[in-house]
Amino acid sequence: MAFDLTRLHPTNQQFLARRAAGEGLLADGQWKASRDGKTFDTVDPATGAVTGKLSLASSADVDEAVVAARGALAGWKATTPVNRSKILWAIADIIEENIDALAELESLDQGKPLFVGRWAEIPGAVNQFRFFAGQAMNIEGQTLESSIDYQPAGKQMRTWTTREPVGVVAAIVPWNSPLVLTAMKLAPALAAGCTIILKPAEDTSLTALRLAELMSEAGLPDGVLNVITGFGAETGASLAAHPGVDKIAFTGSTATGRAILDAAKTNFKRVTLELGGKSPCIVMDDADLELAIPGVANAIFFNGGQVCIAGSRLYAHSAIYDRLVAGVVEYAKGLKMGHGLDPETQMGPLVSVRQAERVEGFIQRAQADGATLLAGGERSGEAGTFIAPTVLADVSPNMEIVCEEVFGPVLAVQKFDDVDEVIAAANDSDFGLAASVWTESLSNAHRMSSDIRAGTVWINCHAMYDPSLAIGGIKQSGWGRDSGKQAMDNYLEWKTVCAAV
Ligand code: ADP
Repeated sequence: MAFDLTRLHPTNQQFLARRAAGEGLLADGQWKASRDGKTFDTVDPATGAVTGKLSLASSADVDEAVVAARGALAGWKATTPVNRSKILWAIADIIEENIDALAELESLDQGKPLFVGRWAEIPGAVNQFRFFAGQAMNIEGQTLESSIDYQPAGKQMRTWTTREPVGVVAAIVPWNSPLVLTAMKLAPALAAGCTIILKPAEDTSLTALRLAELMSEAGLPDGVLNVITGFGAETGASLAAHPGVDKIAFTGSTATGRAILDAAKTNFKRVTLELGGKSPCIVMDDADLELAIPGVANAIFFNGGQVCIAGSRLYAHSAIYDRLVAGVVEYAKGLKMGHGLDPETQMGPLVSVRQAERVEGFIQRAQADGATLLAGGERSGEAGTFIAPTVLADVSPNMEIVCEEVFGPVLAVQKFDDVDEVIAAANDSDFGLAASVWTESLSNAHRMSSDIRAGTVWINCHAMYDPSLAIGGIKQSGWGRDSGKQAMDNYLEWKTVCAAV
Protein backbone atom coordinates (compact mmCIF):
# COMPACT_ATOMS: atom_id res chain seq x y z
CA MET A 1 0.00 0.00 0.00
CA ALA A 2 1.33 3.45 -0.92
CA PHE A 3 2.79 5.41 1.97
CA ASP A 4 0.44 8.28 2.88
CA LEU A 5 2.45 11.35 1.84
CA THR A 6 0.36 13.61 4.09
CA ARG A 7 2.13 11.91 7.03
CA LEU A 8 5.46 13.36 5.90
CA HIS A 9 7.21 16.18 7.69
CA PRO A 10 5.49 19.44 6.53
CA THR A 11 8.72 20.73 4.96
CA ASN A 12 8.90 17.56 2.86
CA GLN A 13 5.29 17.90 1.74
CA GLN A 14 5.97 21.49 0.67
CA PHE A 15 9.22 20.45 -0.98
CA LEU A 16 7.54 17.67 -3.01
CA ALA A 17 4.85 20.10 -4.15
CA ARG A 18 7.57 22.54 -5.29
CA ARG A 19 10.20 20.33 -6.85
CA ALA A 20 8.58 17.02 -7.66
CA ALA A 21 5.86 18.54 -9.81
CA GLY A 22 8.00 19.06 -12.88
CA GLU A 23 10.04 22.15 -11.97
CA GLY A 24 13.16 20.59 -10.63
CA LEU A 25 16.12 21.85 -12.66
CA LEU A 26 18.40 24.46 -11.13
CA ALA A 27 20.53 26.77 -13.28
CA ASP A 28 21.96 30.10 -12.17
CA GLY A 29 19.71 30.20 -9.11
CA GLN A 30 16.50 29.67 -11.11
CA TRP A 31 14.33 26.59 -10.71
CA LYS A 32 12.64 25.55 -13.92
CA ALA A 33 11.04 22.79 -15.94
CA SER A 34 12.99 21.08 -18.69
CA ARG A 35 12.85 23.01 -21.95
CA ASP A 36 10.77 20.37 -23.69
CA GLY A 37 8.59 19.88 -20.60
CA LYS A 38 9.52 16.20 -20.22
CA THR A 39 9.34 14.56 -16.81
CA PHE A 40 9.88 11.14 -15.29
CA ASP A 41 8.34 9.46 -12.25
CA THR A 42 10.15 9.08 -8.97
CA VAL A 43 8.83 6.18 -6.88
CA ASP A 44 8.85 4.85 -3.35
CA PRO A 45 10.90 1.66 -3.83
CA ALA A 46 9.08 -0.21 -1.05
CA THR A 47 5.67 0.06 -2.71
CA GLY A 48 6.29 1.22 -6.24
CA ALA A 49 3.94 4.19 -5.64
CA VAL A 50 4.78 7.37 -7.55
CA THR A 51 5.92 10.13 -5.19
CA GLY A 52 6.52 12.85 -7.74
CA LYS A 53 7.45 13.96 -11.24
CA LEU A 54 11.01 15.07 -11.85
CA SER A 55 12.23 17.15 -14.74
CA LEU A 56 13.97 15.16 -17.45
CA ALA A 57 16.92 17.28 -18.56
CA SER A 58 17.74 17.22 -22.26
CA SER A 59 21.09 18.27 -23.72
CA ALA A 60 19.77 21.85 -23.99
CA ASP A 61 19.08 21.87 -20.22
CA VAL A 62 22.51 20.37 -19.55
CA ASP A 63 24.04 23.11 -21.66
CA GLU A 64 22.20 25.80 -19.71
CA ALA A 65 23.47 24.38 -16.41
CA VAL A 66 27.06 24.23 -17.70
CA VAL A 67 26.86 27.82 -18.96
CA ALA A 68 25.57 28.87 -15.52
CA ALA A 69 28.42 27.07 -13.74
CA ARG A 70 31.00 28.62 -16.08
CA GLY A 71 29.48 32.06 -15.58
CA ALA A 72 29.74 31.76 -11.80
CA LEU A 73 33.31 30.45 -11.79
CA ALA A 74 35.26 33.70 -11.73
CA GLY A 75 33.21 35.09 -8.84
CA TRP A 76 33.41 31.94 -6.72
CA LYS A 77 37.11 31.49 -7.41
CA ALA A 78 37.67 35.09 -6.28
CA THR A 79 35.67 34.59 -3.08
CA THR A 80 38.18 34.58 -0.26
CA PRO A 81 38.87 31.27 1.47
CA VAL A 82 37.35 32.52 4.70
CA ASN A 83 34.14 33.49 2.95
CA ARG A 84 33.95 30.14 1.13
CA SER A 85 34.59 28.49 4.48
CA LYS A 86 31.78 30.44 6.17
CA ILE A 87 29.31 29.33 3.51
CA LEU A 88 30.39 25.69 3.79
CA TRP A 89 29.96 25.87 7.55
CA ALA A 90 26.52 27.46 7.12
CA ILE A 91 25.57 24.61 4.74
CA ALA A 92 26.60 22.09 7.40
CA ASP A 93 24.46 23.93 9.96
CA ILE A 94 21.39 24.06 7.75
CA ILE A 95 21.65 20.35 6.90
CA GLU A 96 21.90 19.62 10.61
CA GLU A 97 18.85 21.78 11.36
CA ASN A 98 16.90 19.77 8.76
CA ILE A 99 18.32 16.38 9.67
CA ASP A 100 15.03 14.66 10.56
CA ALA A 101 13.25 15.84 7.43
CA LEU A 102 16.21 14.94 5.21
CA ALA A 103 16.46 11.45 6.73
CA GLU A 104 12.75 10.97 6.10
CA LEU A 105 13.05 12.12 2.49
CA GLU A 106 16.01 9.80 1.90
CA SER A 107 14.06 6.82 3.29
CA LEU A 108 11.05 7.61 1.14
CA ASP A 109 13.18 7.95 -1.97
CA GLN A 110 15.88 5.32 -1.49
CA GLY A 111 14.13 2.85 0.84
CA LYS A 112 16.80 2.87 3.55
CA PRO A 113 15.72 2.53 7.19
CA LEU A 114 15.30 5.89 8.92
CA PHE A 115 18.11 5.24 11.38
CA VAL A 116 20.65 4.85 8.56
CA GLY A 117 20.00 8.37 7.29
CA ARG A 118 19.33 9.95 10.68
CA TRP A 119 22.36 8.59 12.54
CA ALA A 120 24.93 7.71 9.87
CA GLU A 121 24.52 9.30 6.48
CA ILE A 122 23.08 12.77 7.06
CA PRO A 123 25.51 13.42 9.94
CA GLY A 124 28.19 12.16 7.54
CA ALA A 125 27.13 14.84 5.05
CA VAL A 126 27.26 17.51 7.78
CA ASN A 127 30.77 16.37 8.69
CA GLN A 128 31.93 16.59 5.08
CA PHE A 129 30.90 20.25 4.86
CA ARG A 130 32.51 21.05 8.24
CA PHE A 131 35.75 19.30 7.35
CA PHE A 132 36.04 21.03 3.98
CA ALA A 133 35.09 24.38 5.50
CA GLY A 134 38.48 23.99 7.22
CA GLN A 135 40.24 22.82 4.07
CA ALA A 136 39.07 25.92 2.17
CA MET A 137 41.49 27.88 4.35
CA ASN A 138 44.32 25.40 3.97
CA ILE A 139 45.18 25.62 0.28
CA GLU A 140 48.94 25.90 -0.08
CA GLY A 141 51.44 26.49 -2.87
CA GLN A 142 55.21 26.33 -2.48
CA THR A 143 58.21 28.57 -2.94
CA LEU A 144 61.19 26.76 -4.42
CA GLU A 145 64.86 27.61 -4.53
CA SER A 146 65.70 28.10 -8.19
CA SER A 147 68.56 26.24 -9.93
CA ILE A 148 68.11 28.17 -13.16
CA ASP A 149 71.46 29.62 -14.32
CA TYR A 150 69.90 32.24 -16.57
CA GLN A 151 70.00 35.60 -14.76
CA PRO A 152 69.12 38.71 -16.82
CA ALA A 153 71.15 41.74 -15.80
CA GLY A 154 69.99 43.08 -12.47
CA LYS A 155 67.37 40.35 -12.00
CA GLN A 156 67.10 37.21 -9.97
CA MET A 157 65.10 34.09 -10.68
CA ARG A 158 62.23 33.36 -8.36
CA THR A 159 60.02 30.26 -8.64
CA TRP A 160 56.85 29.34 -6.87
CA THR A 161 53.68 27.31 -7.29
CA THR A 162 50.05 28.10 -6.60
CA ARG A 163 46.89 26.01 -6.54
CA GLU A 164 43.92 26.96 -8.67
CA PRO A 165 40.46 25.45 -8.90
CA VAL A 166 40.07 22.89 -11.68
CA GLY A 167 37.05 24.86 -12.90
CA VAL A 168 33.59 23.51 -13.74
CA VAL A 169 32.91 20.14 -12.11
CA ALA A 170 30.29 17.59 -13.15
CA ALA A 171 29.37 15.64 -10.00
CA ILE A 172 27.63 12.41 -11.02
CA VAL A 173 26.41 10.44 -8.03
CA PRO A 174 24.68 7.10 -7.42
CA TRP A 175 21.53 5.97 -5.65
CA ASN A 176 22.78 3.97 -2.67
CA SER A 177 23.66 6.75 -0.21
CA PRO A 178 22.60 9.83 -2.15
CA LEU A 179 23.06 12.73 0.26
CA VAL A 180 26.34 11.78 1.87
CA LEU A 181 27.95 10.81 -1.44
CA THR A 182 26.77 14.10 -2.93
CA ALA A 183 28.34 15.95 0.01
CA MET A 184 31.62 14.09 -0.59
CA LYS A 185 31.79 15.67 -4.06
CA LEU A 186 30.30 19.08 -3.38
CA ALA A 187 32.16 20.04 -0.21
CA PRO A 188 35.76 19.72 -1.49
CA ALA A 189 34.84 21.14 -4.92
CA LEU A 190 33.34 24.24 -3.32
CA ALA A 191 36.23 24.56 -0.86
CA ALA A 192 38.63 24.56 -3.81
CA GLY A 193 36.69 27.31 -5.61
CA CYS A 194 35.07 25.16 -8.31
CA THR A 195 31.52 25.52 -9.59
CA ILE A 196 29.34 22.48 -10.08
CA ILE A 197 26.66 20.76 -12.09
CA LEU A 198 25.20 18.00 -9.93
CA LYS A 199 23.51 15.03 -11.56
CA PRO A 200 21.86 12.81 -8.95
CA ALA A 201 20.82 9.25 -9.82
CA GLU A 202 17.45 8.93 -11.54
CA ASP A 203 16.12 6.66 -8.77
CA THR A 204 17.09 8.99 -5.92
CA SER A 205 17.10 12.68 -6.82
CA LEU A 206 14.98 14.10 -4.01
CA THR A 207 17.53 14.86 -1.32
CA ALA A 208 19.89 16.40 -3.91
CA LEU A 209 17.15 18.84 -4.92
CA ARG A 210 16.34 19.64 -1.30
CA LEU A 211 20.04 20.06 -0.52
CA ALA A 212 20.37 22.55 -3.39
CA GLU A 213 17.52 24.60 -1.92
CA LEU A 214 19.15 24.53 1.51
CA MET A 215 22.55 25.48 0.12
CA SER A 216 21.07 28.49 -1.54
CA GLU A 217 19.40 29.47 1.76
CA ALA A 218 22.79 29.09 3.45
CA GLY A 219 24.20 31.77 1.16
CA LEU A 220 25.74 29.90 -1.78
CA PRO A 221 25.73 32.35 -4.70
CA ASP A 222 23.58 31.63 -7.76
CA GLY A 223 25.22 29.49 -10.41
CA VAL A 224 27.83 27.96 -8.10
CA LEU A 225 25.69 24.82 -7.78
CA ASN A 226 23.39 23.79 -10.61
CA VAL A 227 21.32 20.61 -10.66
CA ILE A 228 20.03 18.51 -13.53
CA THR A 229 17.92 15.39 -13.18
CA GLY A 230 17.40 12.59 -15.67
CA PHE A 231 18.63 9.21 -16.82
CA GLY A 232 22.28 8.22 -17.00
CA ALA A 233 22.38 7.21 -20.63
CA GLU A 234 20.98 10.56 -21.82
CA THR A 235 21.29 13.35 -19.23
CA GLY A 236 24.37 11.87 -17.55
CA ALA A 237 26.12 11.07 -20.82
CA SER A 238 25.37 14.53 -22.20
CA LEU A 239 26.90 16.15 -19.10
CA ALA A 240 29.95 13.85 -19.12
CA ALA A 241 30.67 14.69 -22.76
CA HIS A 242 30.04 18.45 -22.49
CA PRO A 243 33.10 20.48 -23.59
CA GLY A 244 32.36 23.14 -20.96
CA VAL A 245 33.04 20.68 -18.13
CA ASP A 246 36.62 20.56 -16.82
CA LYS A 247 36.32 17.68 -14.42
CA ILE A 248 34.04 14.73 -13.70
CA ALA A 249 33.73 13.52 -10.14
CA PHE A 250 31.92 10.19 -10.37
CA THR A 251 30.75 7.55 -7.94
CA GLY A 252 28.98 4.51 -9.36
CA SER A 253 29.42 1.21 -11.10
CA THR A 254 32.65 0.13 -12.77
CA ALA A 255 30.83 -0.25 -16.11
CA THR A 256 29.56 3.35 -16.01
CA GLY A 257 33.03 4.46 -14.89
CA ARG A 258 34.36 3.16 -18.22
CA ALA A 259 31.70 5.14 -20.13
CA ILE A 260 32.69 8.25 -18.16
CA LEU A 261 36.34 7.75 -19.13
CA ASP A 262 35.36 7.54 -22.78
CA ALA A 263 33.31 10.73 -22.53
CA ALA A 264 36.12 12.53 -20.72
CA LYS A 265 38.73 11.94 -23.37
CA THR A 266 37.30 14.44 -25.89
CA ASN A 267 38.69 17.44 -23.97
CA PHE A 268 40.86 15.56 -21.44
CA LYS A 269 38.61 16.27 -18.52
CA ARG A 270 40.09 15.49 -15.14
CA VAL A 271 38.37 12.40 -13.77
CA THR A 272 38.02 10.81 -10.36
CA LEU A 273 36.16 7.53 -10.13
CA GLU A 274 34.90 5.85 -6.98
CA LEU A 275 33.71 2.51 -8.35
CA GLY A 276 32.72 -0.95 -7.28
CA GLY A 277 34.17 -3.36 -4.78
CA LYS A 278 34.10 -6.95 -3.61
CA SER A 279 35.51 -6.31 -0.18
CA PRO A 280 36.74 -9.22 1.94
CA CYS A 281 36.06 -9.59 5.66
CA ILE A 282 38.65 -11.93 7.15
CA VAL A 283 37.95 -13.50 10.51
CA MET A 284 41.00 -15.11 12.13
CA ASP A 285 40.93 -17.96 14.64
CA ASP A 286 41.85 -15.50 17.42
CA ALA A 287 39.03 -13.03 16.63
CA ASP A 288 36.59 -11.80 19.27
CA LEU A 289 33.46 -13.43 17.81
CA GLU A 290 31.14 -11.32 19.97
CA LEU A 291 32.41 -8.38 17.94
CA ALA A 292 33.00 -10.16 14.65
CA ILE A 293 29.57 -11.77 14.20
CA PRO A 294 27.51 -8.56 14.22
CA GLY A 295 30.44 -6.74 12.62
CA VAL A 296 30.67 -8.89 9.50
CA ALA A 297 26.86 -9.21 9.29
CA ASN A 298 26.48 -5.42 9.31
CA ALA A 299 29.33 -5.10 6.83
CA ILE A 300 27.11 -6.77 4.25
CA PHE A 301 23.53 -6.15 5.39
CA PHE A 302 23.78 -2.44 6.29
CA ASN A 303 21.76 -0.45 3.73
CA GLY A 304 20.75 -3.76 2.15
CA GLY A 305 24.30 -4.33 0.92
CA GLN A 306 23.93 -1.36 -1.44
CA VAL A 307 27.27 0.00 -0.33
CA CYS A 308 30.41 0.12 -2.46
CA ILE A 309 32.51 -0.98 0.51
CA ALA A 310 30.11 -3.77 1.58
CA GLY A 311 31.93 -6.78 3.01
CA SER A 312 30.54 -9.23 0.48
CA ARG A 313 33.25 -11.92 0.73
CA LEU A 314 33.57 -13.53 4.16
CA TYR A 315 36.71 -15.59 4.86
CA ALA A 316 36.31 -17.62 8.05
CA HIS A 317 39.22 -19.48 9.67
CA SER A 318 38.40 -23.20 9.86
CA ALA A 319 38.78 -23.18 13.67
CA ILE A 320 35.88 -20.73 14.13
CA TYR A 321 34.02 -21.31 10.84
CA ASP A 322 31.02 -23.15 12.30
CA ARG A 323 30.44 -20.70 15.17
CA LEU A 324 30.94 -17.64 12.99
CA VAL A 325 28.70 -18.79 10.17
CA ALA A 326 25.95 -19.95 12.55
CA GLY A 327 26.08 -16.53 14.23
CA VAL A 328 25.92 -14.61 10.97
CA VAL A 329 23.02 -16.76 9.70
CA GLU A 330 21.12 -16.19 12.95
CA TYR A 331 21.76 -12.44 12.66
CA ALA A 332 20.58 -12.44 9.04
CA LYS A 333 17.37 -14.28 9.88
CA GLY A 334 16.66 -11.89 12.76
CA LEU A 335 16.80 -8.68 10.73
CA LYS A 336 13.40 -7.01 10.44
CA MET A 337 12.62 -5.97 6.90
CA GLY A 338 10.06 -3.27 6.17
CA HIS A 339 9.31 0.15 4.77
CA GLY A 340 12.19 2.51 5.44
CA LEU A 341 9.84 4.93 7.19
CA ASP A 342 8.70 2.32 9.72
CA PRO A 343 10.90 3.04 12.77
CA GLU A 344 11.13 -0.72 13.51
CA THR A 345 12.72 -1.48 10.14
CA GLN A 346 16.31 -2.74 10.15
CA MET A 347 16.59 -3.45 6.43
CA GLY A 348 14.57 -1.79 3.69
CA PRO A 349 13.88 -2.69 0.07
CA LEU A 350 16.45 -2.47 -2.68
CA VAL A 351 16.29 0.77 -4.60
CA SER A 352 14.35 -0.53 -7.62
CA VAL A 353 12.74 -3.56 -9.21
CA ARG A 354 15.63 -3.61 -11.69
CA GLN A 355 18.18 -3.86 -8.86
CA ALA A 356 16.16 -6.51 -6.98
CA GLU A 357 15.90 -8.63 -10.13
CA ARG A 358 19.61 -8.22 -10.72
CA VAL A 359 20.44 -9.36 -7.18
CA GLU A 360 18.01 -12.28 -7.40
CA GLY A 361 19.74 -13.37 -10.61
CA PHE A 362 23.11 -13.47 -8.81
CA ILE A 363 21.64 -15.62 -6.03
CA GLN A 364 20.04 -18.06 -8.48
CA ARG A 365 23.19 -18.40 -10.56
CA ALA A 366 25.30 -18.95 -7.43
CA GLN A 367 23.07 -21.85 -6.42
CA ALA A 368 23.23 -23.25 -9.95
CA ASP A 369 27.03 -23.02 -9.64
CA GLY A 370 26.89 -25.17 -6.49
CA ALA A 371 26.56 -22.68 -3.60
CA THR A 372 24.49 -23.71 -0.56
CA LEU A 373 21.85 -21.22 0.57
CA LEU A 374 22.01 -20.83 4.37
CA ALA A 375 19.67 -17.82 4.72
CA GLY A 376 17.47 -15.56 2.62
CA GLY A 377 17.47 -15.86 -1.14
CA GLU A 378 13.88 -14.90 -1.80
CA ARG A 379 12.44 -11.72 -3.30
CA SER A 380 9.25 -10.30 -1.78
CA GLY A 381 7.16 -7.16 -1.21
CA GLU A 382 4.35 -5.58 -3.19
CA ALA A 383 6.78 -4.02 -5.66
CA GLY A 384 9.09 -7.06 -5.56
CA THR A 385 11.99 -4.99 -4.24
CA PHE A 386 12.75 -6.76 -0.95
CA ILE A 387 15.52 -9.38 -0.85
CA ALA A 388 15.97 -11.20 2.45
CA PRO A 389 19.50 -11.08 3.93
CA THR A 390 21.24 -13.90 2.09
CA VAL A 391 24.15 -16.13 3.13
CA LEU A 392 25.75 -18.52 0.61
CA ALA A 393 28.32 -21.14 1.60
CA ASP A 394 30.27 -23.73 -0.41
CA VAL A 395 31.39 -21.14 -2.90
CA SER A 396 34.72 -21.31 -4.69
CA PRO A 397 37.10 -18.57 -5.85
CA ASN A 398 36.12 -18.57 -9.52
CA MET A 399 32.37 -18.40 -9.04
CA GLU A 400 30.58 -15.26 -10.23
CA ILE A 401 29.24 -14.67 -6.70
CA VAL A 402 32.82 -14.39 -5.39
CA CYS A 403 34.16 -12.29 -8.27
CA GLU A 404 31.39 -9.85 -9.22
CA GLU A 405 29.88 -6.98 -7.25
CA VAL A 406 26.24 -7.79 -6.39
CA PHE A 407 25.29 -4.56 -4.60
CA GLY A 408 22.70 -6.31 -2.48
CA PRO A 409 22.43 -8.16 0.86
CA VAL A 410 24.30 -11.26 -0.31
CA LEU A 411 27.27 -12.76 1.54
CA ALA A 412 29.55 -15.43 0.05
CA VAL A 413 31.42 -17.43 2.71
CA GLN A 414 34.70 -19.32 2.30
CA LYS A 415 36.91 -21.24 4.73
CA PHE A 416 40.69 -20.87 5.12
CA ASP A 417 43.46 -22.32 7.26
CA ASP A 418 46.39 -19.95 7.23
CA VAL A 419 47.25 -16.33 6.89
CA ASP A 420 49.20 -16.51 3.61
CA GLU A 421 46.39 -18.41 1.97
CA VAL A 422 43.77 -15.87 3.02
CA ILE A 423 45.83 -12.84 2.00
CA ALA A 424 46.28 -14.38 -1.47
CA ALA A 425 42.54 -15.13 -1.68
CA ALA A 426 41.59 -11.63 -0.54
CA ASN A 427 43.88 -10.09 -3.18
CA ASP A 428 42.63 -12.39 -5.93
CA SER A 429 40.05 -9.86 -7.13
CA ASP A 430 39.65 -7.28 -9.88
CA PHE A 431 38.63 -4.84 -7.15
CA GLY A 432 40.61 -3.21 -4.37
CA LEU A 433 38.30 -0.88 -2.50
CA ALA A 434 38.28 -2.03 1.11
CA ALA A 435 38.77 -4.95 3.50
CA SER A 436 38.35 -5.76 7.16
CA VAL A 437 40.42 -8.03 9.37
CA TRP A 438 39.05 -9.43 12.61
CA THR A 439 41.81 -10.53 14.98
CA GLU A 440 43.14 -9.98 18.49
CA SER A 441 46.71 -10.51 17.30
CA LEU A 442 48.76 -7.38 16.79
CA SER A 443 51.04 -9.09 14.30
CA ASN A 444 48.12 -10.41 12.23
CA ALA A 445 46.61 -6.91 12.23
CA HIS A 446 49.83 -5.27 11.03
CA ARG A 447 50.77 -7.96 8.54
CA MET A 448 47.33 -8.09 6.92
CA SER A 449 46.70 -4.35 6.84
CA SER A 450 49.99 -4.03 5.00
CA ASP A 451 49.63 -6.98 2.58
CA ILE A 452 45.99 -6.64 1.58
CA ARG A 453 45.67 -4.62 -1.61
CA ALA A 454 42.84 -2.20 -0.94
CA GLY A 455 42.28 1.54 -0.48
CA THR A 456 41.13 1.03 3.12
CA VAL A 457 41.69 -1.76 5.65
CA TRP A 458 39.66 -1.79 8.83
CA ILE A 459 40.71 -3.83 11.86
CA ASN A 460 37.94 -5.19 14.10
CA CYS A 461 35.43 -2.87 12.44
CA HIS A 462 34.06 -2.23 8.95
CA ALA A 463 32.77 0.77 7.01
CA MET A 464 33.84 3.36 9.58
CA TYR A 465 33.81 6.74 7.88
CA ASP A 466 35.57 9.83 9.08
CA PRO A 467 35.66 13.02 7.03
CA SER A 468 39.41 13.27 7.57
CA LEU A 469 40.02 9.77 6.13
CA ALA A 470 40.40 9.31 2.39
CA ILE A 471 38.19 6.69 0.77
CA GLY A 472 38.68 5.14 -2.64
CA GLY A 473 40.18 2.17 -4.33
CA ILE A 474 42.91 0.61 -6.40
CA LYS A 475 42.60 -1.72 -9.41
CA GLN A 476 39.07 -1.60 -10.91
CA SER A 477 37.70 0.16 -7.82
CA GLY A 478 38.66 3.49 -9.30
CA TRP A 479 40.94 6.48 -9.48
CA GLY A 480 41.57 9.03 -6.75
CA ARG A 481 40.18 9.51 -3.28
CA ASP A 482 37.08 11.14 -1.85
CA SER A 483 37.01 12.58 1.67
CA GLY A 484 40.07 13.58 3.67
CA LYS A 485 42.40 16.35 2.66
CA GLN A 486 43.52 14.20 -0.30
CA ALA A 487 40.13 14.99 -1.90
CA MET A 488 41.18 18.63 -2.31
CA ASP A 489 43.71 17.47 -4.92
CA ASN A 490 40.81 16.32 -7.10
CA TYR A 491 39.62 19.89 -7.47
CA LEU A 492 42.89 21.84 -7.62
CA GLU A 493 45.46 22.25 -10.39
CA TRP A 494 49.08 23.24 -9.82
CA LYS A 495 50.36 26.39 -11.46
CA THR A 496 54.11 27.01 -11.68
CA VAL A 497 55.36 30.59 -11.79
CA CYS A 498 58.93 31.28 -12.85
CA ALA A 499 59.95 34.94 -12.74
CA ALA A 500 63.00 37.09 -13.39
CA VAL A 501 62.41 39.94 -10.96
P1 ADP B 1 23.64 1.64 -11.72
O1 ADP B 1 24.08 0.97 -13.00
O2 ADP B 1 23.70 0.74 -10.58
O3 ADP B 1 22.34 2.39 -11.83
P2 ADP B 1 25.45 3.74 -12.32
O4 ADP B 1 26.88 3.66 -12.03
O5 ADP B 1 25.05 3.52 -13.74
O6 ADP B 1 24.72 2.75 -11.39
O7 ADP B 1 24.86 5.14 -11.84
C1 ADP B 1 25.58 6.13 -11.15
C2 ADP B 1 25.28 7.47 -11.75
O8 ADP B 1 25.79 7.51 -13.08
C3 ADP B 1 23.80 7.81 -11.89
O9 ADP B 1 23.62 9.20 -11.59
C4 ADP B 1 23.52 7.54 -13.34
O10 ADP B 1 22.42 8.28 -13.85
C5 ADP B 1 24.80 7.99 -13.97
N1 ADP B 1 25.09 7.40 -15.29
C6 ADP B 1 24.72 6.19 -15.77
N2 ADP B 1 25.18 6.01 -17.02
C7 ADP B 1 25.88 7.13 -17.35
C8 ADP B 1 26.62 7.56 -18.49
N3 ADP B 1 26.74 6.80 -19.56
N4 ADP B 1 27.21 8.77 -18.45
C9 ADP B 1 27.12 9.55 -17.36
N5 ADP B 1 26.43 9.22 -16.26
C10 ADP B 1 25.81 8.02 -16.24
